[in-house]
Amino acid sequence: MKIHEYQAKELLGAYGAPVPTGEIATTPAETKEAAAKYDTCVIKAQVHSGGRGKAGGVKLAHSPEEAEEIAQKMIGMTLVTHQTGPQGKVVSKVLVTEAVEVEKEFYLSITGDNERAGVVIVASADGGTEIEETAKTAPEKIVQVPVSVITGYRAFHGEQVAEIFGLEGALKKELIALLSSMYRLYVEKDCSLVEINPLVLTREGHLLCLDAKVNFDDNALYRHPELAELRDVAEEDPKEYRASQFDLNYISLDGNIGCLVNGAGLAMATMDIIQKFGGQPANFLDVGGSATKERVKAAFEILLSDPNVKAIFINIFGGIMKCDVIAEGLVAAASEMGIKVPLVVRLEGTNVDKGKEIIKNSDVAIISAEDMADGARKAVEAAKGVA
Ligand code: ADP
Ligand code: MG
Repeated sequence: MKIHEYQAKELLGAYGAPVPTGEIATTPAETKEAAAKYDTCVIKAQVHSGGRGKAGGVKLAHSPEEAEEIAQKMIGMTLVTHQTGPQGKVVSKVLVTEAVEVEKEFYLSITGDNERAGVVIVASADGGTEIEETAKTAPEKIVQVPVSVITGYRAFHGEQVAEIFGLEGALKKELIALLSSMYRLYVEKDCSLVEINPLVLTREGHLLCLDAKVNFDDNALYRHPELAELRDVAEEDPKEYRASQFDLNYISLDGNIGCLVNGAGLAMATMDIIQKFGGQPANFLDVGGSATKERVKAAFEILLSDPNVKAIFINIFGGIMKCDVIAEGLVAAASEMGIKVPLVVRLEGTNVDKGKEIIKNSDVAIISAEDMADGARKAVEAAKGVA
């Protein structure tokens, strides 16, 4: 789960990290009112995406009137950044925050380290909006400091980062304390990322988190009911949100063949084989081990709400779930919903013959497939309108 910059800063602040003051505004009038507290302030579009600065989502205002003018343009606009995709994200609120005089910008984050089965601090003395460029052209400038989950974060990790940043004395202490706050937040709230970019050295000589991004591990959200109120459904893909309500693992893609599969590995293989036959999957969907009629129905609904979907490929391996049970669910869901696009079904596994029988005897128009390759080929053809 992702949250907004202002929410991430509130969390970081609660953990003792230095964050700038700021207020949220949803109208130009509110923006003007909030801006009256500052000589100069920065108006920042709150969308779940980075790269806002370069896309016109971060603007300096020298007066409340200018802040209001900026908000008039920014609130309601569709911000297209390199992270949003071409459709962009609609800005419905802005953060009005103090304009900080910046000496230097650093990059600092904490994230999971799959390779070492631990946590890693990622740091660069060249932070700011060019960090992705740096990652491409000078990756050696981005340094990793691994942290063992057994010992946790210790001051010596912070000392290493201070050296990367070239910070000494009081600033080194500020950095060590900041990392301690970030690490506690990361662990206690089951984050997948705590990122400050830029972390700045201010003209007054202090460290300040000028931007913040905090992502949470969805699988651990059940442990944090307090985080539910931070969720902004409007920022999420509506299909993915709906799928999450049914515990379906669903991810939207750009193609036109809807996939309904049980098991993540089979779902990946299905996407691959569709591409092998020249098609493009419209989604990744793993309905999991309990393909009940309700969940299959929800899955169909989600697939069909995507106007790009021209055919659906159902690829099921009946293991613990038996094929006849799945077939019953499929037929019931499909006949209740009156599906218009071609349905290609491949069933394999326990009670497959009973399953095929149920499909054959139903009045739902289903294209049966012999095996996975046959199903993928038929789905690709059906999507082209050839079948
Ligand atoms: P994004 O990462 O989405 O582009 P940031 O919050 O990092 O958005 O802002 C982009 C750049 O704008 C920062 O690197 C910084 O140089 C500048 N900036 C952001 N907030 C402030 C602020 N409060 N005062 C001064 N400059 C800022
Ligand atoms: Mg940033």
